[in-house]
Amino acid sequence: MAAKVIDRYKNVGNVVEEFTKKKRRPRQMAVVDEDNCTGCRICIPFCPVDCIEVVPVEKYGIPIPPVQIRFNECIGCSLCERACTDLAWDAIRMIDTTVFEEVYGIPID
Ligand code: SF4
Ligand code: SF4
Repeated sequence: MAAKVIDRYKNVGNVVEEFTKKKRRPRQMAVVDEDNCTGCRICIPFCPVDCIEVVPVEKYGIPIPPVQIRFNECIGCSLCERACTDLAWDAIRMIDTTVFEEVYGIPID
């Protein structure tokens, strides 16, 4: 049992110790399904550019709000998706950047 749990952590990768910055337009964007996000924050320390933040409490007026992504800082590495799927709740999807721009109307540099 313990070995299985450790294997799941190995799949995710390491928690970030030093942040980096975006250098080019990513091929994919991470999108949080807010209705599915428990607000557990497990994904946050896995983001290498520190672009996942908690939605302000006043937006929904609930004690544990979901997280959101500052899209123009995301490098599309998918570590948050793996962390959420393997360790939490499967609330993050990776979407092709061009499709993301069309669907959400947010231009990505
Ligand atoms: S790990 Fe998943 S469920 Fe937890 S805060 Fe991040 S997106 Fe939400
Ligand atoms: S895909 Fe990578 S850079 Fe983008 S939010 Fe997730 S962990 Fe951060």
